[in-house]
Amino acid sequence: MVYRAEYLWIDGAEPTPEIRSKTKILPDGTEPGVWGYDGSSTNQAPGDRSDIVLQPVFQCPDPIRGGDNVLVMCETLHTADQSPIPSNTRAVAREAEDKYGDQDMWFGLEQEYTLLDPVTGWPAGFPEHGYPRPQGPYYCGVGAVKIFGRDLVERHAEACIRAGLKISGTNAEVMPGQWEFQIGPAGTVEVGDHLWIARYLLYRLAEDEDLEVSLEAKPMKGDWNGAGMHTNFSTGKMREDYDAIIAACEALGQPGKPEEHLAAYGVGIEDRLTGAHETQRFDQFSYGVSDRGASIRIPWQVAHDKKGYIEDRRPNANADPYLVSAVMTNTVGAVLT
Ligand code: ADP
Ligand code: MN
Ligand code: MN
Ligand code: MN
Repeated sequence: MVYRAEYLWIDGAEPTPEIRSKTKILPDGTEPGVWGYDGSSTNQAPGDRSDIVLQPVFQCPDPIRGGDNVLVMCETLHTADQSPIPSNTRAVAREAEDKYGDQDMWFGLEQEYTLLDPVTGWPAGFPEHGYPRPQGPYYCGVGAVKIFGRDLVERHAEACIRAGLKISGTNAEVMPGQWEFQIGPAGTVEVGDHLWIARYLLYRLAEDEDLEVSLEAKPMKGDWNGAGMHTNFSTGKMREDYDAIIAACEALGQPGKPEEHLAAYGVGIEDRLTGAHETQRFDQFSYGVSDRGASIRIPWQVAHDKKGYIEDRRPNANADPYLVSAVMTNTVGAVLT
């Protein structure tokens, strides 16, 4: 008979690219092949040369449809010469991995997000008028007046597991309606594939729950935490040796590097990296053991074991994981060779 392949790709939306998808119905026993779409409807091509090529690059079981159905992550290519179109950021991650992948980079991305009530536009758990109790009881909290949206969080984690994604945990965050899931450890390209598909599943499942998912970096102004995508990172050497941990931190602080990294870390960096709410200011660079007010945190356990990984706390929730993993791989890879 037939099965369904959901083709996924990243669009050209400004300022923050989003995931798109469409379904191909295929005879059993055939592979999802090259396909295409109308790039003039995704801000990726002019109307008179609108075709964009979808090149399947990674697939996993579709946990929502079940059965033999699959999700297919694609790269986007020009029709003329099959080269990556400008918004194909996976190609950037691929290049970085080709260059430095022999250092065995691992990434663990902490994707924070906010569930919004589609009627009020406010985070789930915020009353229609006024504000909930100040931050304090919500982070990793339990109980009906603290927690909003847990059904979705649970369904999403189950879907990621069934899809075979490297999801490593979930938790309620500091602001009501804010949550996190983690993907990793995974390689430079792999972490982006898995995170983009996990984002797709989250949006898709939220359709059924009367909730909207926002990756905005600072959804509520004022005394409310923003939403980030902390990037935990190690190379083979860093997992063996503390000197390599320090060398990686120093590499990230070299002249010009903080600016280069922030440019890849998402939209609204200045709004979120204020120096308050467990962040370092966007125009300062620092690293330190256990320091959640530093740009880079060395976890306590890592300082104790004298090996492990570092946490770059700067990326925004709306960052593109392919660009984050690529710039990290390139900066640290060049120094630790
Ligand atoms: P936090 O304490 O900052 O909330 P989390 O537990 O949310 O940290 O996330 C830590 C992430 O780091 C997880 O995804 C985990 O898989 C990942 N991780 C653990 N060890 C390593 C390592 N050696 N290199 C890269 N990532 C790692
Ligand atoms: Mn976390
Ligand atoms: Mn968090
Ligand atoms: Mn963290």
